[in-house]
Amino acid sequence: MIDLHCHLDLYPNPKDIVSECERRKLYILSVTTTPSAWRETSKLANGSKRIRTALGLHPQLAKERSGELPLFDALLKETQYVGEIGLDGSPEFQSFWNIQVRVFEHILKKCTDDGGKIMSIHSRRASKEVLELLEKYPSSGIPILHWFSGTVRDLEKAIDLDCWFSVGPAMLRGEKGRNLLKRIPKNRIITETDGPFTSIEEKTLMPWDVEIALASIEQIWGRTSGEAKELIRHNFENLISKNSL
Ligand code: MN
Repeated sequence: MIDLHCHLDLYPNPKDIVSECERRKLYILSVTTTPSAWRETSKLANGSKRIRTALGLHPQLAKERSGELPLFDALLKETQYVGEIGLDGSPEFQSFWNIQVRVFEHILKKCTDDGGKIMSIHSRRASKEVLELLEKYPSSGIPILHWFSGTVRDLEKAIDLDCWFSVGPAMLRGEKGRNLLKRIPKNRIITETDGPFTSIEEKTLMPWDVEIALASIEQIWGRTSGEAKELIRHNFENLISKNSL
């Protein structure tokens, strides 16, 4: 199984989580929210063939952490994976919208200069603006829209821009997320949890809870058990084959 967007470093007991993921042979993209967290978070994956650590600067932290952009630039050559990055148009983050745009655009430009990265992207209430910037930087890499929640029109644009989509249990619980899933090409979908930020019935999601998303996907697609897992595994291999590392 694959969790393409989780925050291993933010669980209270990350080492135990890593051991359990190893035991279950889970593939993980461990995203970070600040450049200064990347080095230590990468160490969590030491020795694990199936965990990669993405270098990120979360849009909600853009104001507080924009001073870490030089560190972001310095670390970028060490990884093929970037995230969590993007824009957040929710009211509580509007006051520093311009800083968010500056940070996201800076990152897309650097990814372009470094030959393109696999990017895990946050676009809450900002899918239109995120897509405009991805369109402006077409060589920034492979964008994976994490927990996409935009309009159908934006989804269609994202598909045209060759975006991928990581979908999780929380997204697929709501009618909106389920309807979006139906419109995403089956060969561009990968599972995620966004743990530990997400929970179901007050239980924090663990990376292996991608199983819950797989069951929802099979139900929405009308497939039998195991089919989504196999297809997503195939998608994942396709995605990483595009990667030079
Ligand atoms: Mn996240």
